[in-house]
Amino acid sequence: MTELLNAAQRASLLDDMIHGRCPDAQGRFGPFGGRYVPETLVHAHERLTAGVQRWLSDPEYQAELNEQLTNWVGRPTALTFAPRLSERWGAELWLKREDLAHTGAHKINNAMGQALLARRLGARRIVAETGAGQHGVATAAACARLGLPCTVYMGAVDMERQAPNVGRMRLLGANVVGVTSGDRTLRAAIDEAMRDWVGDPDGTFYILGSAVGAHPYPYLVRELQAVIGREARAQFQQRCGALPDLVIACVGGGSNAIGLFHPFVGDRTVQILGIEAGGTGPGLGQNAATLVGGRPGVLHGCQTLLLQDEHGQIQETHSVSAGLDYPGVGPEHAALLACGRVRYESASDDEALAALKECCEFEGILPAIETAHALAGAKRWAQANPGKRMLLGLSGRGDKDMPTLSQTLIKQLDAVKS
Ligand SMILES: *Cc1c(COP(=O)(O)O)cnc(C)c1O
Repeated sequence: MTELLNAAQRASLLDDMIHGRCPDAQGRFGPFGGRYVPETLVHAHERLTAGVQRWLSDPEYQAELNEQLTNWVGRPTALTFAPRLSERWGAELWLKREDLAHTGAHKINNAMGQALLARRLGARRIVAETGAGQHGVATAAACARLGLPCTVYMGAVDMERQAPNVGRMRLLGANVVGVTSGDRTLRAAIDEAMRDWVGDPDGTFYILGSAVGAHPYPYLVRELQAVIGREARAQFQQRCGALPDLVIACVGGGSNAIGLFHPFVGDRTVQILGIEAGGTGPGLGQNAATLVGGRPGVLHGCQTLLLQDEHGQIQETHSVSAGLDYPGVGPEHAALLACGRVRYESASDDEALAALKECCEFEGILPAIETAHALAGAKRWAQANPGKRMLLGLSGRGDKDMPTLSQTLIKQLDAVKS
């Protein structure tokens, strides 16, 4: 996507990204980001932007967030050296363990941060969207903790595919509403949550689950997830006395990746690599590798890269991991690609499942299938960079993926046995 910008524009965007000047006041990361929303949504976004400016760096808000992250979420999460995979793959592998955070993934960092912000802004109820259900579960848990009523919009197709998470959300007190419009998956659920929010932007707060959407969401989510990278950078330096050679994470909407990457963007000796869902192949509709195969466009209020056909129709995506199955990506990743600071590659369904199995067998950790894409990317990078040190964002645990694993890896184990 480097052809999007000429050499001078690339250099200037790189300088802005490295020195923390993005997003600008309009929410732009170079040519990406911004706020492309209908008139009905402008007031709600402006009110939220003012709230973010007022509270995000407020010492009392920060202290309240820290207290919840420490005593309820379980932060800081561990940094784990992976000795057996390091030996197999030929480069040192260090895991930042977001699977150990409450509710089993990084999503809780953002959900709790936004729920606390909602309370400061006087919200009486919360709405959220969810695809695979992980963000819905994290939001329902944060709302239960703070005593806020919570409605989660979820595509009817996803409700069927992810039935256990629907039950979890309901146990946590959320009202789960099935969305039967549009594609009946995540895209339609986001539209429906937005519609609910604009009906009452003063009393309702919309907790968006990834670093996507209109300004200020990509910025807000990055700031709340950057705790991952800040902790990991300090832990890594303390344990190794140096910075890693590579920082790597999986990219769906991009929240766990931007959270890990952000504190390393200015470290010129550190390579950064994002891994997208390569699905079953490179054709349109076969994958969700937006940065690898996408073109510029607007989705959910933001200029970014999108998987679309030659007429600009957004494409259906495929991935074995529901959490990476989204045709867009956060604008900050599009900018990090365009300026050349971060490289993005994809890992296929099969590569991810193979890496997941290795992580189970050799490290005693069952990662989420989303996370397994990053492991597959790390394995590939290690082979080309023997002896170097990798820091990998282990975004979540794989217990939620047992239905999919039963149909794939575990079937293969059974076949070998019989
Ligand atoms: C939701 C999810 C992802 C993908 O979302 P990002 O916003 O790209 O981080 C990755 N890993 C896990 C475990 C998830 O639950």
